[in-house]
Amino acid sequence: MAKITVHPLTKNPTKAWQKLQVKQSISKVTPLDPDTPVQIDKVRFVCISDTHARVERLQDFIPEGDVLLHAGDITNVGLPFEIEKFNEFLGKLPHKHKIVIAGNHDLTFDDDMVKTKRHDLEMRFNIRKEKFEDYLNERGIASVKSLLTNCTYLEDSMAEVYGIRIYGAPWQPEFCDWGFNLPRGQACLDKWNKIPEDVDILITHGPPIGHGDKCFDGSHVGCVELLSTIQQRIFPKYHVFGHVHEGYGVTTDGVTTYINASTCTLQYKPRNPPIIFDIPLPEGVSKTC
Ligand code: MN
Ligand code: MN
Repeated sequence: MAKITVHPLTKNPTKAWQKLQVKQSISKVTPLDPDTPVQIDKVRFVCISDTHARVERLQDFIPEGDVLLHAGDITNVGLPFEIEKFNEFLGKLPHKHKIVIAGNHDLTFDDDMVKTKRHDLEMRFNIRKEKFEDYLNERGIASVKSLLTNCTYLEDSMAEVYGIRIYGAPWQPEFCDWGFNLPRGQACLDKWNKIPEDVDILITHGPPIGHGDKCFDGSHVGCVELLSTIQQRIFPKYHVFGHVHEGYGVTTDGVTTYINASTCTLQYKPRNPPIIFDIPLPEGVSKTC
C-alpha cells in the first residue's frame, strides 16, 4: 500500500498548488447533457451538492437516473426541520438509490459538535440544547441522521450499488469552526487513510487541491492530502464533492474525473444543474435484479 506523506506546504494550499501544478495534468471536461437517455447497460449517476435547504423548486430540475449522489451541505445549520424538508424532497425523487453525506453546514450531523461543542451550537447557531434534545427524545432517536429515511447516509463508510463501490466522508480542512472540520495535514490524512483502495466513486464534502477548489478571490482551498490519496493510492473513477460553490464543474487528471457538483452558487442560489455520468454495468449485473 502506498504510504502518503503530509506535504510540507499543506497549511498553505495556494502555495502548495503553485508547486504541485507544474507536474499535474488537468483538463476541463464537458459533462454529459442531462437529457442524454439512460441506457440499460449503464448505471446513470446524478450528482448534486450544497443544496442548503433550498429544495422547494429543485425537484423538476433533477434529471432521471439510477443513483442520486449528494456531497453534503444539505442544510444551512443542521436544524431538524431543514433535514426533514430535505428528506421529503428525496422521497419525491424517482432514483432507485440515493446516497448522501453531510457537510460543514450540517452541524447536528457532527457527533463531536453535538456532544462536546454544544456551546458553539447554542451560541453561534441558536440551536438550543434543551430544544434539540427534546426534539430527539420526542422522536425516540439518538441522532438527526435517523431523519434521513429516504437515502443511504455515508460517514466514513461504503455503499455498493450494482456492484459499484461508493465511499463517503464529510471531512474538510477547517473553515471558521463549522462541522466536520479538521486541521490541515495529518488529521485530514488520518481520515483519508480509512478509504479502502477498491473504491469506484469517492464522495467527500470538500475538494482536493487543484480541482474545483478555486475561490472567488483566486485562492485554492482544497486538501493537499486528499489529492495525494486519490492519485497515489485510491485511483477512483470519479471523485464527487462540493463545498466551494464557485468551483462548480468537471475536470480530469486522466485517471480520475473530479466533479464539483455544488448546486448553490456563491450567492446561495440553487441554479447549477446536476452533473450526470454513466458507468457501464459490471459483468453479470443487471439493473432489474
Ligand atoms: Mn455549501
Ligand atoms: Mn461546505
